[in-house]
Amino acid sequence: MNIHEYQAKALLRSYGAPVSDGRAVLRAEDAKTAAGELDGPLWVIKAQIHAGGRGKGHFLEPDAGDKGGVRLARSVEEAATEAKQMLGRTLVTHQTGPVGKTVNRIYIEDGAGIERELYLALLVDRATSRISFVCSTEGGMDIEEVAAETPDNILTFSVDPATGYQAFHGRRIAFSLGLTGNQVKQCVALMGTLYKLFTDKDMEMLEINPLIVTDKGDLKCLDAKMGFDGNAIYRHADIAALRDETEEDPKELAASKFDLNYIALDGEIGCMVNGAGLAMATMDIIKLYGAEPANFLDVGGGATKEKVTEAFKIITSDPNVKGILVNIFGGIMRCDVIAEGVVAAVREVGLKVPLVVRLEGTNVEKGKEILNSSGLNVIAADDLSDAAAKIVKAVKG
Ligand code: GDP
Ligand code: MN
Repeated sequence: MNIHEYQAKALLRSYGAPVSDGRAVLRAEDAKTAAGELDGPLWVIKAQIHAGGRGKGHFLEPDAGDKGGVRLARSVEEAATEAKQMLGRTLVTHQTGPVGKTVNRIYIEDGAGIERELYLALLVDRATSRISFVCSTEGGMDIEEVAAETPDNILTFSVDPATGYQAFHGRRIAFSLGLTGNQVKQCVALMGTLYKLFTDKDMEMLEINPLIVTDKGDLKCLDAKMGFDGNAIYRHADIAALRDETEEDPKELAASKFDLNYIALDGEIGCMVNGAGLAMATMDIIKLYGAEPANFLDVGGGATKEKVTEAFKIITSDPNVKGILVNIFGGIMRCDVIAEGVVAAVREVGLKVPLVVRLEGTNVEKGKEILNSSGLNVIAADDLSDAAAKIVKAVKG
């Protein structure tokens, strides 16, 4: 689960990490008051969307002005004008895709004077099963770009969970970032704070890009992106409350309400599979036969007919879906439950695209019988290759 920059900064502030003073604004008429509460003489007006690259982004509507989603202002009035221009408009960045995201919230901040822009991130490193620090002197730009072009400018190391964060970790980062004097002390303290926040709140990712050295020589977190482990959210009611459902894919949102493991993708073949491994294999084989999966979906072992029905409805609600492949290897999951769910969903929402079903395992005959007697136009398949070949043929001819 991701949260907005202003929410992440409130968390940072509550842990004592250095951030600028700021106000979140939802309505254009509140922008001027909010800006007036900050000192100036520089204000930063920042679109709050769950995507990065806002500064270099652009708005789809001409009346939003030809600037990006991070703007500087020299007066309260100017700050309010910029906020009004961005609110309700569509911001496109390299992370939003061409359709962009609607800006429903603005964060107005006291502008900082910048001496240097640095990069810092903490993440759960699956390779080492530890929390890793990633830092670079090349702040303010995409770390992917830095990694591709000048990988030597990136320092990465993991922290042994037995010892946790130690001051030497912070000094290592400080020296690699070229910090000196009091900045080293600040860095050691800040890294400890970030590590504590990261572990306290079960984060998956925390990115400060840029971490800056201000014109006064102090460290400050100028941007903040946080991602939390969805499986641990139940332990953090304060974090769960920060969820902004308007930022989420509506299909993924619906899936999460029914506890379905669903991830929306860009392809044309909707898939309903049981088991994450089989779901991934199904996506692979769809690609092998020349098409693209529209989603990942693992309906799981103990799914009910209602859950299967919802899953099927989510798949059919995707306008990109030109065909559906149901691939079930019934173990704990019974083939008849899947068949009942599919039939129930089609009764409710209809079926306008070809449907290939491959059933195998527990209660397979019963499942096939339910589909056959339903009058549904189902293309039956014998195995995984056969199923993939048939759905791709049905969609692409
Ligand atoms: P992003 O484009 O979504 O990553 O948004 P950021 O918060 O990282 O802002 C983009 C850029 O705007 C930063 O790299 C800075 O160069 C600039 N910027 C952001 N906040 C301030 C500020 O307080 N003062 C100044 N001078 N520049 C800022
Ligand atoms: Mn940034």
